[in-house]
Amino acid sequence: MNVASLTISQIRDGLRAKSFSASELAAEALRLAAAENPKTNAYLLLSDERALSAAARVDQQLAAGQDPGPLAGVPVAVKDVIVTKGLRTTCASRLLENFIPPYDATAVQRLEQAGAVILGKTNCDEFAMGSSNENSAFGPVRNPVAPDRVPGGSSGGSAAVVAQGTAVASLGSDTGGSIRQPASFCGVVGVTPTYGRVSRYGLVAFASSLDHIGPFARNVHDAALMLNVIAGRDPMDSTSALAPVPDYRAALQQDVRGMKIGIPREYFEGLRNETADQIRKGLDLLRAQGCEIVDVSLPHTSYAIAAYYIICTAEASSNLARFDGVRYTFRAPEAKTMLDMYNLTRGQGFGAECKRRIMLGTYVLSAGYYDAYYLKAQRVRSLIARDFQQAFSQVDALITPVSPFPAFKLSEKLADPMEMYLSDIYTITGSLAGIPCMSVPCGATSEGLPVGMQILTRHFDEPGMFRLASSFERAGGSTL
Ligand code: GLN
Repeated sequence: MNVASLTISQIRDGLRAKSFSASELAAEALRLAAAENPKTNAYLLLSDERALSAAARVDQQLAAGQDPGPLAGVPVAVKDVIVTKGLRTTCASRLLENFIPPYDATAVQRLEQAGAVILGKTNCDEFAMGSSNENSAFGPVRNPVAPDRVPGGSSGGSAAVVAQGTAVASLGSDTGGSIRQPASFCGVVGVTPTYGRVSRYGLVAFASSLDHIGPFARNVHDAALMLNVIAGRDPMDSTSALAPVPDYRAALQQDVRGMKIGIPREYFEGLRNETADQIRKGLDLLRAQGCEIVDVSLPHTSYAIAAYYIICTAEASSNLARFDGVRYTFRAPEAKTMLDMYNLTRGQGFGAECKRRIMLGTYVLSAGYYDAYYLKAQRVRSLIARDFQQAFSQVDALITPVSPFPAFKLSEKLADPMEMYLSDIYTITGSLAGIPCMSVPCGATSEGLPVGMQILTRHFDEPGMFRLASSFERAGGSTL
């Protein structure tokens, strides 16, 4: 058995044929993860005990002739902003360095109920704020494809473990691109479902109106299967959607003949590099498979970054107020008064990016500035959502690059936050609109750096998105 290349279907077949047991697979995955981790720093924690007992349960069920579930024995990793009962969950922050949650996130619970084996928790940007994984309090993650480069962020660890082959799939979170951008940088599949499709219960909140949980996987089929398991209404999250969850695998076999794909012209203006070349090759491939490709416009695109960094910082300033040394977090020991305790705890606990966002967010919500910034940004958000609605009245799906450039070098963009924020230019619009989007591998640059193609569809049209992605993958899109 070679953990580094197994897919979910191969695991199912292997278990059935008794080529290996779930316990053997878990032990091998844990061994490999421990051996490989010094190269990437992608795992913050390996949960040997929990993984081995989940795997033993699967083996017992198999031996007793019971159905161990659609993800039986599949080794998965979970981003460290998603809580796991009894397993330290740090959000890659000093503040939560020793936080042991008393419950599991719904997505984690559903994965384990489906037979998945949780190997450990993955590194990320602190509280999911960043695009390079360099904002982690526990050190950056290196891209397994090019170790002098970042894996993207904020879910850099979750993308890296799948690319590195130490986990077969993983969970990440996406607020403005944090699943899609690292998936594109590491050459794996990453899915941000419709807002509300997957419960956020147990996802430590960054910007609640934009936060999503979604899967990373080695191929489209595995990503669809992961989403099948984690999607659906959850009474613990009132924003989770009531809409029934279709079996996403049904969409994977359909061809794409006659599908109409829109290319938003604003996304390609001024983009003349190998990323643009790869996406064009991808479009040619889809055309050859019978898709009709048309030009569309999303006229408010240029306001997206400004609106996003007002809305997400406003929500973050409110969400992060709870980390004050009283309940969850470390408490600055030298504090003498209560105010001192708040100030010192937060001052020492939060990293620079979190502080920057808390300050920005507090400012845009303050009396006198609220209308000028926050309210205006919300209006822009509506306009951006309307742009998509109009585009989807003409086409079935949109295709864009995920990021304007491939994985960049470690430290390259650290000194200039604005430069870093620009990496999200193509992913933030879909997040503001709450529509499903994904990154599917679309070949590599001449230096061998992976390029991701972004597919966006209407609210709850994950089937349409998977149909396009899997047809693209079958036609050889990932190695273009
Ligand atoms: N890179 C974006 C940011 O820094 C997106 C982060 C995310 O999606 N969690 O906010």
